[in-house]
Amino acid sequence: MEQKLIPEVDKEWSKISFKWRRLLPKRKDRPPSPIKFEPDEKTLNKLIEQSNKIIDEIIAKAKIKASGHAKLITTDKIVIDPRVRWKCQIPVCFGFGTSLNCPPHSPTTEEMREIVNSYTHAILISFYPPIKNHVFPSILLGVQGDVNLLNQMVSMIEGEATYMGYYLAMGFKGGPCVGCGFFSPEYFKDLMQQKKIPLCPVLDNQMCRQYLRARPALEACGVDSFATAVKCGEKAPFVINPEHPKESVPFVVWHGIVLIV
Ligand code: SF4
Repeated sequence: MEQKLIPEVDKEWSKISFKWRRLLPKRKDRPPSPIKFEPDEKTLNKLIEQSNKIIDEIIAKAKIKASGHAKLITTDKIVIDPRVRWKCQIPVCFGFGTSLNCPPHSPTTEEMREIVNSYTHAILISFYPPIKNHVFPSILLGVQGDVNLLNQMVSMIEGEATYMGYYLAMGFKGGPCVGCGFFSPEYFKDLMQQKKIPLCPVLDNQMCRQYLRARPALEACGVDSFATAVKCGEKAPFVINPEHPKESVPFVVWHGIVLIV
């Protein structure tokens, strides 16, 4: 398969996406953490504190008017519903089959239930991006950037949990793969020019271009993130369409879940 290079004009995007790890404290500044097999209140509280800091730092670095927070939940509050994954296919979503992190390649509903049932505690991330990014005319590039930020939050919080001793921490986020799929600048330009869009390299037996960072879509695994969020005491979201004037939309929310222990 022909390897596409990132056009000069988009290189800034790549630089931005590779800089995100600098937000975490340097590894050498961290004392080694003993591995933990059970939930430990003190560590979990510290993890939530650190997770909120990570979310705030990512939003501040992106220089956008947004907010977000992390909340400790028990995994019995995570709603898994087969209809959610079927909605990726009926009608077919633009992300279907385009990466390892969307159906039919992502964990199935049954597999996700098995994964979730292996954990007792998780972190629910709620991210409220600027409303204008989800309605015309900004939506075409706006959603792309917001999903990218959510992906950063999830992968960094998962990293934080791992370095605190929860070595089996595992993160998922809403939306298709942002690494080099539909939401990447490379893909987006091709789409606009009606060019052939390359498959996710992993589906072509190559290494993921954003290894350790790319995450499965929650919905692709059958997780109803909205029902989960409401069950966890978050605000019930709204269904909007891109034609809505931004003034008419109360808020937009994206969720991520990091399974901890
Ligand atoms: S970031 Fe990784 S998983 Fe996502 S589309 Fe690119 S290669 Fe595939």
